[in-house]
Amino acid sequence: MSSILLVPIGKIVDPHIPLLKTPLEATFGLRVDTSTERSIDPAFAFEPSRNQYYSTQMIKHLLHLYSSFQGKILGVTPYDLYVPVLTYVFGEAQLDGTAAVVSSYRLDNSYYGLPADPLLLEQRLIKEAVHELGHTFGLLHCHEYECVMHSSTAVEDIDLKGERLCGMCTDVLARKNFRR
Ligand SMILES: [Zn+2]
Ligand SMILES: [Zn+2]
Repeated sequence: MSSILLVPIGKIVDPHIPLLKTPLEATFGLRVDTSTERSIDPAFAFEPSRNQYYSTQMIKHLLHLYSSFQGKILGVTPYDLYVPVLTYVFGEAQLDGTAAVVSSYRLDNSYYGLPADPLLLEQRLIKEAVHELGHTFGLLHCHEYECVMHSSTAVEDIDLKGERLCGMCTDVLARKNFRR
């Protein structure tokens, strides 16, 4: 049975990897393991002119490192991510592919000049992790506001949606898994 591998990229805040295990297992029905190797130093993805990390490079690196892994790979990083056409991204995924990456950098209220809210940060990270992995399972953006596959360009959007797939996305996921 294939599984999901969580890979820390950079110095992750302690509960941020283990807290993803249960929601990801519940959503995708697969075992979730955490990479036991040392955390990856993402210096190779750093873009000095933007002071950010190129998420696509992180995905390429994960695919290279775990080329023999049979399952989905999610990199989790505290660093600020970008893709060239956007100011920032909360994460990126290979659609119907193998790897995705998610960042906690912009998920805490302290980033927006508000008091830190670790619990809210954790909820947002779970939603974005489920969302990006959902893309690797072939799920597209969903129109349902409460569906975790609804797209989020700001943290307010993340707070509006739930951490679960809607009925329609659940059906799509089930059909895709059945075909594998
Ligand atoms: Zn998305
Ligand atoms: Zn949906």
